[in-house]
Amino acid sequence: MNVVDRLIEEHVLRTAEYVELLKLADNQDVVAQLADEAVRLRKKNYGNKVFTRGLIEFTNYCKNNCYYCGIRRGNQHARRYRLTKDEILACCVNGYELGFRTFVLQGGEDPFYTDEKMVDIIGTIKKKYPDCALTLSIGEKSYESYKAYKEAGADRFLLRHETATEEHYRMLHPVEMSLDNRKKCLYELKELGYQVGAGFMVGSPGQTIDNLAEDLMFLQKLKPQMVGIGPFIPHHETQFAAEPAGSVDMTLYLLSIIRIMLPHVLLPATTALGTLDPKGRERGLSVGANVVMPNLSPVKNRKQYELYDNKICTGEEAAECRGCLGNRVASVGYELVNERGDYVESL
Ligand code: SF4
Repeated sequence: MNVVDRLIEEHVLRTAEYVELLKLADNQDVVAQLADEAVRLRKKNYGNKVFTRGLIEFTNYCKNNCYYCGIRRGNQHARRYRLTKDEILACCVNGYELGFRTFVLQGGEDPFYTDEKMVDIIGTIKKKYPDCALTLSIGEKSYESYKAYKEAGADRFLLRHETATEEHYRMLHPVEMSLDNRKKCLYELKELGYQVGAGFMVGSPGQTIDNLAEDLMFLQKLKPQMVGIGPFIPHHETQFAAEPAGSVDMTLYLLSIIRIMLPHVLLPATTALGTLDPKGRERGLSVGANVVMPNLSPVKNRKQYELYDNKICTGEEAAECRGCLGNRVASVGYELVNERGDYVESL
């Protein structure tokens, strides 16, 4: 059986087979075959539904210095901001009225938000919105911190692993950061009962086909409930400013592969995809993605949460974003729904 058929039949491959599969990314017959199967699986498991996550970017301070990131601590030109608890809650009020039933609190690793503050914010949101899911995307913490957030009511946690290969990780991160710790965090989050999201950038500097195959192997082993992938986009205040952006087509191909590997996965058509291609999110939904993550952050701060250049949707009010995305989703035959959109093993 060839690798394409084996992935479709068994949902599992070996590293060398992923390498072989990734080398077929230019073969339009294979691309179409995998996209068809990915769409069949997403429809079987989630019908025509597309879930929304209201993204609240509550701080762009970060103690880390990932070389590719526009808000890393070393960027002296980033204009920093933090949202107060009341500002965060105002985003939730707005989002709830617009139909959002998942809120995502995303930020840099900002020590200002102590565990005590986070537990207070999490608890308040969950008390006010018991019918909503709360996702955190706040980086690497201790097991005890993750446990405290879970007990306060957090449901999900996004922590992209970025690359599963040590050598590649070292090209993207300073010496004080550790891939082993990042992987450990992901396993601990799973153990604590979070719905967990891993993921990576496609086409990040130095990335090889072998690295991508390792990323897929890591996902196959971890079995996260969510996977966030988007093309790498350079930021002008980083050492990678002159590097080319990642490939939209390769990202779409990987979305199909990941949907087939993990048929029930919650898979966003990311803002980065929409930044590189005006129809990128629609194309993502057409090859297996089933989630979109519009921005609920205050418009005054949107441009400051600049992980990469030219990020889209930084000027619109949340209601406009919601309307625009609803139309985009409908244009490719799907329906944006007002539901929590939890991961379900079998429906
Ligand atoms: S990628 Fe995340 S952890 Fe790294 S510098 Fe940027 S915000 Fe901080």
